[in-house]
Formats: sequence, structure tokens, C-alpha cells
Amino acid sequence: MYKHIFFLTILILFSISNLFGQNFWNDIRYFTPEEFYTNKEIHPVDSNLVIFIDEVRHQLQEPITISSGVRSKKYNHEVGGKEGSSHTIGKAIDIKVVDANYRAKLLFYLLSESYCRNLPIKIIQYSSHFHIAVDLKHTEVYID
Ligand SMILES: [Zn+2]
Repeated sequence: MYKHIFFLTILILFSISNLFGQNFWNDIRYFTPEEFYTNKEIHPVDSNLVIFIDEVRHQLQEPITISSGVRSKKYNHEVGGKEGSSHTIGKAIDIKVVDANYRAKLLFYLLSESYCRNLPIKIIQYSSHFHIAVDLKHTEVYID
């Protein structure tokens, strides 16, 4: 009997967590799921990444264009992405950088929000975009 209740509880908890996993989009103010999917991918985007970038967008008070989101392995290879890139597991996005002022503000809000949330991120600065990845042990900032 207790065994049944135990498994039923696990099943209910699993269903609830699944529900939350899909519904985090309800709280996203500035982005649609489509913006995170570059082509026909299989891997879902990391919810922490979406929630994080939504808040950065709120602080920045300027548009954020995601130039690349989740990529299939095939597509990642085609665009010259590194093998095993964070893009292929839904843990990285590229953001278009419009000018030097935007670059500075974006960098500031990415880092401040990362520290506020205790969410380590990796930023690689390219001339036209930032690569931002989550699920790291420490925050890392690079210039390509
Ligand atoms: Zn990237």
C-alpha cells in the first residue's frame, strides 16, 4: 500500500515538474520560443538561459536580437560551430551587437544579472555578436 502511495507521489511530482518545464514561457516578457530555435532542432532550450536573457533584456531596455539559438548537430557543423557546441544542447545563444555603446551596456547587464542570480555564464565577444552560454562552474569572459 505505502509503496503505491510512494510511486503515485513520484508520478504526480514528475508531472508537475514537467508542467513547469513547459510553462516557464508564460513568464517570458520579451521573447517567443521561435527566437531560440535556429532550424529544426531536437533539443529544447535551457529554461535558465531564457529566463536569464529575458531579465537582461528588461534591464537593458533595448531590443535583443538572437542571431543563433539551439542548433541541430548537422546545422552546427554547417555553420562552422565547434563540435559538441553548447548550441546543440540548448545552452547557448548568440546575440547581435549593434555598436560599441550597445556592446558595453549588454556586457554590463549580462555580468550583473549573472552575479545577481548566481548563474555563471560564458561570454565570448565577437565583432558582430556575443556568444552566451549557461551551465558553467564559473563566469568566463573572452574576446575572440
Ligand atoms: Zn554561439
